[in-house]
Amino acid sequence: MNYERILVFGAHPDDEQTMAGAMAKMADLGVEVYVAIFTDGREGYPEPWMKDKIVEMRRAEGEASDRVLGVKERIRFDRPDTALVNDSETFKETIAVIRRIRPHAIFNHGPHDRNRDHIAACAIVLEATWQASEPVCAELGEPWDTPHLFYYKGVADREPDLLYDITGYAHKHLESRATQTSQHTLFGKTAEAFAEEVARIKAENPSAQDRFWLTGRTPLRDFPDAE
Ligand SMILES: [Zn+2]
Repeated sequence: MNYERILVFGAHPDDEQTMAGAMAKMADLGVEVYVAIFTDGREGYPEPWMKDKIVEMRRAEGEASDRVLGVKERIRFDRPDTALVNDSETFKETIAVIRRIRPHAIFNHGPHDRNRDHIAACAIVLEATWQASEPVCAELGEPWDTPHLFYYKGVADREPDLLYDITGYAHKHLESRATQTSQHTLFGKTAEAFAEEVARIKAENPSAQDRFWLTGRTPLRDFPDAE
């Protein structure tokens, strides 16, 4: 994972946290970590009173998570939650982001998922990663061929292709989860429970790994040396 720049796509604010340990470790190693989130997360409110505030809350929570993980920039598409589709506008915006960031690896949702936005994100990113490399849509930037494309979740039918050592960063998943205050009901944990568990994991410092799956676009022979 010795990349210069990586781009992690998520359908909702907090999806990217699945690979929190890897992101935090890579950021510490000097990798520029970019996050691109398709929807505004407006349906993620557990209480009716939060309905009008949820988008603003999740925006702030996303920024707080980025500080925990060392993310360089968060790109927001701000599509409505539950309504993400691979329309021309979203597809082109994705190409433009890929061409601007010029990542050496893209991390994406996988195809096996129940959530409609996750499934849509998988398709948009797969197609846009390829199309960004082609000499088309010139107004969207210089073509960029991303060398490696991975799934970080949403793969049900096979074992991961890469286990990335995140020992020393195992607590980052829960530490970033803790910043998503509006989602604590969904996660089933209070702020105090998060804090206790983060402290315990930090103290125990267990060996840990994040899991990644190759997509059809990354042949094994081109695979970089993993630590
Ligand atoms: Zn999601």
